[in-house]
Amino acid sequence: MHNKSVAELSRELESGKISSVELTREYLGRLKKEDEQLNSFISITEDQALADAHAADEQRAAGKGTRWTGVPFAHKDIFCTNGVATTCGSKMLANFVPPYDATVTENFRKAGAVCLGKTNMDEFAMGSSTESSHFGATTNPWGLSKGEKRVPGGSSGGSAAAVAARLVPAATATDTGGSIRQPAALCGVTGLKPTYGRVSRYGMIAFASSLDQGGAMARSAEDAALMLNVMAGFDPKDSTSIDREVPDYTATLDEPLKGLRIGLPKEYFADNLSAAMEEQVRGAIREYEKLGATVKEISLPHANLAIAAYYVIAPAEASANLSRFDGARYGYRCEDPKDLMDMYTRTRAEGFGAEVKRRILVGTYALSAGYFDAYYLKAQKVRRLIQQDFIEAFREVDVLMSPTTPSPAFVQGEKSNDPVTMYLEDVFTVAINLAGIPAMSVPAGFVDGLPVGLQIIGDYFSEARLLNAAHQFQQVTDWHQRAPQ
Ligand code: GLN
Repeated sequence: MHNKSVAELSRELESGKISSVELTREYLGRLKKEDEQLNSFISITEDQALADAHAADEQRAAGKGTRWTGVPFAHKDIFCTNGVATTCGSKMLANFVPPYDATVTENFRKAGAVCLGKTNMDEFAMGSSTESSHFGATTNPWGLSKGEKRVPGGSSGGSAAAVAARLVPAATATDTGGSIRQPAALCGVTGLKPTYGRVSRYGMIAFASSLDQGGAMARSAEDAALMLNVMAGFDPKDSTSIDREVPDYTATLDEPLKGLRIGLPKEYFADNLSAAMEEQVRGAIREYEKLGATVKEISLPHANLAIAAYYVIAPAEASANLSRFDGARYGYRCEDPKDLMDMYTRTRAEGFGAEVKRRILVGTYALSAGYFDAYYLKAQKVRRLIQQDFIEAFREVDVLMSPTTPSPAFVQGEKSNDPVTMYLEDVFTVAINLAGIPAMSVPAGFVDGLPVGLQIIGDYFSEARLLNAAHQFQQVTDWHQRAPQ
């Protein structure tokens, strides 16, 4: 059962061939056994899942429900879940039980989906390896059979590893600079980061508010479309949410790709990309040509500035967002504070990990009176140039394609002491967040037995087109069906 897609499980629940309780039991059993090696979950909510599965079966029996009724899935532990601990991978929130649901959480609840638990992540979504979690690193299921412990990518590494290992059919994730696409690529699954404003950020713990966006981690484009159908939509509780109609993202999956104009940004096929990776990505692009697409090289002239701009803007916003964790309101508080200042300083010194502190330091520095113009303002101007590059590109082509990452999954520990090398994991992904446009990562081959991701980038609100392009590719290739041993 665990190899079936969300779409298939939905049909079998609908026809009564399986019940949600059976399905949920099977998944929980597998999860408890297999996750000892992977550590892809921070918490498993067994009782709640079984109760929800019972309720879903009753709904279905009464002829009611949605395509998601009774289908198991998991939430990244950044989405607030009413009554269930939401840690964001941090000691700061290790005991935080939200008194409300995120809008995304509520949407899945209303659709009748069965949440099995909360997935592991880099602390406060800062990272590219899921090694900085207070709850221990997640291991990539690929490479394990050779005895290698590789990273699943990050920050949504728990969601990606769990979906790749078939511990759950699909999971939510978030992407501030690549955190859906990069782990999707490293784990061989399908990830979708929607347009900024498409999915509500209400109740999604904030890292960098102008960049954060919730999205889907699934095994196929069809399942990602089913997820986006539930996640997308206007939310009056999020002031950056966009009031725009939500199409049925599954309705256009089967449209032919004949005439699709693909642009290859030459800056994304440069020296930092290994020959083996490039070969896989070019092979995928040839499949698109066979499907009737045309390909041409384009240029994103400011591409080389994206990492620098991102690592000013994201830490600046993070330093402001994380000021709320002070020991006074909720979350961790140090023991026996002497006075107020002692409480603030020790709470933050003990509650945050090294990477989070590094970002707060960089962010407060960039925002300080003497440096604001030189760093923050300059980075915002660069951001506009980067956005302009994409707007220009989409005058000539429908989608852009590139590798998602410069290399496949690396070994745990290899980059954890070198933040800049870690930041470079996102060279092909951060510009998309700076521009606010949507993008996907789709499994497109292997290098040394490790998955390679193809990134498909689209214009604002072109999620349906991206999902269509990914789905058509998945009709003629089987990379997305390969499972780790
Ligand atoms: N790896 C990037 C960072 O560390 C992106 C993280 C994310 O998208 N949440 O900031």
